[in-house]
Amino acid sequence: MVPVIALVGRPNVGKSTLFNRLTRSRDALVADFPGLTRDRHYGDGRIGDKPYLVIDTGGFEPIRTEGIVKAMTGQAQLAITEADAVLFLVDGRTGLTPQDSRIAQSLRESGKTVYLVVNKAEGLSESMKAEFYELALGEPYPISAAHGEGVRPLMNLVLEPF
Ligand code: GDP
Ligand code: MG
Repeated sequence: MVPVIALVGRPNVGKSTLFNRLTRSRDALVADFPGLTRDRHYGDGRIGDKPYLVIDTGGFEPIRTEGIVKAMTGQAQLAITEADAVLFLVDGRTGLTPQDSRIAQSLRESGKTVYLVVNKAEGLSESMKAEFYELALGEPYPISAAHGEGVRPLMNLVLEPF
């Protein structure tokens, strides 16, 4: 079975940029994967001999409902349910935000395998990772979705079990 990888994070962290880098066909072959919901943004890709599906949870990001700030929309939560692994993106330039912390809490509760990805890391010192350990999601992986730095090693790690 092809692993399904969900890209999760607050708006503007670079989910769609990473999605585009990880996928060749923007509107994937969802019809070939009958178990998956159709109204999300899927793409497919391959590294070496390992194919994967990616879900971009962007475009589903109105976060405020009835005055309550929710960690994530239902769409993002459904994507996580479908996923074999979650890439949780944060922004290495903005730094940690309260919304990141709320999403991290939901992800810890989901029981899924989560990779903490610090995007926009091009040109930043390794020390900017430090504050993200507070999210209690393990080692932060710095990448640049825009420039590609760190993406291949990250994906090798993510795909290793499959
Ligand atoms: P999304 O809302 O999480 O899908 O984020 P987008 O992919 O739309 O990106 C939001 C903004 O961040 C855009 O202006 C991107 O060009 C920018 N961005 C994305 N990845 C990077 C990166 O690796 N480095 C930098 N400096 N900017 C990035
Ligand atoms: Mg987006």
